[in-house]
Amino acid sequence: MSIFEQRESEIRGYCRVYPVVFDKAENARQTDENGKEYVDFFAGAGVLNFGHNNERMKKAMIDYIQSNGVLHSLDLHTTAKRRFMERFTKVILEPRNMPHKMQFMGPTGTNAVEAALKIARRATGRREIVAFSHGFHGMTLGALACTSNQAFRGAAGIPLEHVRHLPFGCETKCGDCKLGCGIERLDELRAAYEDGSSGLLPPAAFLVEPVQAEGGVNVASKAWLQALSKLAKDVGAVLIFDDIQAGCGRTGSYFSFDDMGVDPDIVCLAKGIGGIGTPLAMNLVKPEIDKHWSPGEHTGTFRGQGLSFVAGTEALSYFENDELMQDVTRKTATMREAVDPLGDRYTSIQVRGKGMMIGIDVGSGEKAKAIVSKCFEKGLLVSACGSGGRVVKLIPPLTIPDSDLKFGLDTLVETTHQVMEAA
Ligand code: PLP
Repeated sequence: MSIFEQRESEIRGYCRVYPVVFDKAENARQTDENGKEYVDFFAGAGVLNFGHNNERMKKAMIDYIQSNGVLHSLDLHTTAKRRFMERFTKVILEPRNMPHKMQFMGPTGTNAVEAALKIARRATGRREIVAFSHGFHGMTLGALACTSNQAFRGAAGIPLEHVRHLPFGCETKCGDCKLGCGIERLDELRAAYEDGSSGLLPPAAFLVEPVQAEGGVNVASKAWLQALSKLAKDVGAVLIFDDIQAGCGRTGSYFSFDDMGVDPDIVCLAKGIGGIGTPLAMNLVKPEIDKHWSPGEHTGTFRGQGLSFVAGTEALSYFENDELMQDVTRKTATMREAVDPLGDRYTSIQVRGKGMMIGIDVGSGEKAKAIVSKCFEKGLLVSACGSGGRVVKLIPPLTIPDSDLKFGLDTLVETTHQVMEAA
């Protein structure tokens, strides 16, 4: 029995799906300790947008360590943090006229969401948050209350309160979902908020992933997201976008909502923002909301991590011109050409997504599980998500070489046919 089975907590999850010991990783490949290589279409659940051990980031980090750069600093000012903030302002915020402040917190996505919820409640003096079906926002209690999946909620051990869950406004009707998404639901909500006798008060915030990842790769419709933004503004609620998994270039531009014509008050970022896989989380908060914080109120030991600032600054150089984003558009087309025919061939399959985040909803958790495990045997890492784990999610590094992308797509398509035909 390995040390993992002997001593690692029962909580272990992904390692049960890929039961080998990984040893090395480079760009879109991981190698296990026996030398078997895998093409990685999982990419640390959206962390590794720029690949494993990205050469540019690795070099910047090694140089930084060798020069005795500050690795840990709580929230003290460091040159690494200044470089990151200046570059982020210049490359991401200024071109979009975003006045937002940057708040660093403990380096996980769930911590970013917690901070957003706190400041929204503080700024509005209200308690309720409106979150959406299939939304995934993290595992700490506040974020978990906003997460929809009962499999995660059940572990809380206490009631998860002060959150109302409404149907998410999908771009396409997802599979056999009967939740009734759409703008009409927002109209009903508006009417209730406007009627002083409806029993419903406007919330502190609306929290939404413009592109849901763990929930099964559901893309919000532009009209719905715009209607939601307007509703938030009209009722004085804070609009929080969780772009933790879909942001940082994944969908073909820096934010997943860049083409949606919306203006969020808070944007939560984590995962890809640290560039190479070292942790970092950051909220972008409009100054009129941010001013409600008092110094140190949402503190944390690892607020902004030296090496993540260094690698994260390097990552921003990918957005100084449109080379990478054009490549993402090209690779997205390659991916869709390969997988869209699966949706044409099988009525129970729906393919959806945005940019290089694509979900193949195969209609059943068992089938998705079989596809994931057969792909793994053939040397491809993919994972399942969505209700009952029925959606195979493809999120390869944006920097994946064409040959690895082809291998991964060929393997996935062939395996999906095998599993669907066997059923
Ligand atoms: N929000 C979204 C959209 C996520 O996909 C995740 C993680 O998958 C989180 C929040 C939570 O991030 P973390 O696991 O770093 O706490």
